[in-house]
Amino acid sequence: MVSKAAPRKWPVRAIEVISFLAFLYAGLGYLNHAYLHWVDSFWLSNYSDRLAIVAFGILVVARQKNRYTRNRIAIMVSLTAVGYLVIPYFIGSSFFNNHLVGSVWFFAYLAIVFAFGRRADCSWYCPCVGIRDTVGNAFRANTVKGDWYWRLRHLKWVFMGSMLVYLLVVVLLRLSPDALAFLPANTTARYIYYFWGITNGLYFASFLVIPWTGNRNFCRYMCPWGATYGTVGNILGFFKIEADREKCIYCNLCEKECDMGVPLRKLIKGHGEIRVADCVGCGRCIQVCPKGALRFVDIRDYLGFPHKFPQPLKAKPAVKSREEVPTAVAVDAAGTDLGVKLKAVGQFSGGRLAFQGFQGDPGLERWAMLPAVLFHVLLLLF
Ligand code: SF4
Ligand code: SF4
Ligand code: SF4
Repeated sequence: MVSKAAPRKWPVRAIEVISFLAFLYAGLGYLNHAYLHWVDSFWLSNYSDRLAIVAFGILVVARQKNRYTRNRIAIMVSLTAVGYLVIPYFIGSSFFNNHLVGSVWFFAYLAIVFAFGRRADCSWYCPCVGIRDTVGNAFRANTVKGDWYWRLRHLKWVFMGSMLVYLLVVVLLRLSPDALAFLPANTTARYIYYFWGITNGLYFASFLVIPWTGNRNFCRYMCPWGATYGTVGNILGFFKIEADREKCIYCNLCEKECDMGVPLRKLIKGHGEIRVADCVGCGRCIQVCPKGALRFVDIRDYLGFPHKFPQPLKAKPAVKSREEVPTAVAVDAAGTDLGVKLKAVGQFSGGRLAFQGFQGDPGLERWAMLPAVLFHVLLLLF
């Protein structure tokens, strides 16, 4: 649970400092690549933020006790590493960059978002959530909340508008190269240049204020894709969080846990559901609810395949202490078969990554684990 009152002991401070340095590294990589050209190096380039995601992702996954969040972050780091780092670097293809406005994958992803909500991107497959749920994990408790910050969310429509204009330009030019010939020369090229310059600039600049705003500042206020996906998936599409007002005791724990500053308590009281463009579907609120009053709804519910994840932690106390975790696995450090059921993710053990096998969860999440498993196998090879 996020607690603002938690004392800041030195290990916490040290993690915050290291995390902030990692944000600086990611930002410098982008600056070097796009503008400064200090060195021609993979290690200080537009891949820097993805490298930080993988490094911190492994640590966050290894330390995360909450199974759903651990699986989600493992999958998100794996997918981001493959789609935004490995494939572009080694194969040179950016096909799986779902943020390439007007591309085939961009439209395909819109369909996925329509079915499953904004979370398909903003919790499972985006370098931004990648860095904010890993490097930014140390600053979750600093998330700014309250009426004023909630009202500020409307800023995002300006950025969404700028992307819709971009999309319109791309579509018109695809339909006919002369469609915008009436505009002064280079207008569309300049628009696209400034769109990416401003968006990327704000994205990396937002790293600098994360210690004071919380990890999701860009996602909340400035992301054109997040606003578009929120509209398509959460407002027009199938996704929402359903709340059982009979069970809810209005304890506010869910709201405290939310990195997007969604005023859950008020929405539950007023509407009995959370259907807002801002929800990134991380599931943290559902898990923290002591009464099991919240659940995700997406296309599966409409098709008659209701799913049961994530589950409230209190309702299903899976793991309470280190001793209860089947921590190791096929083999422990001494090579002894412990004869316990295998778990789904990798974790650090004695300074090395020990792959723990695959148990998975029923439903879609089980199949979504496969990229994470492949990723961890790859890690073992290097
Ligand atoms: S809001 Fe934007 S930057 Fe944040 S996770 Fe979603 S798509 Fe990525
Ligand atoms: S955590 Fe659960 S019980 Fe508490 S306010 Fe949220 S939905 Fe209601
Ligand atoms: S409302 Fe719940 S699922 Fe949505 S972003 Fe907040 S914590 Fe995550």
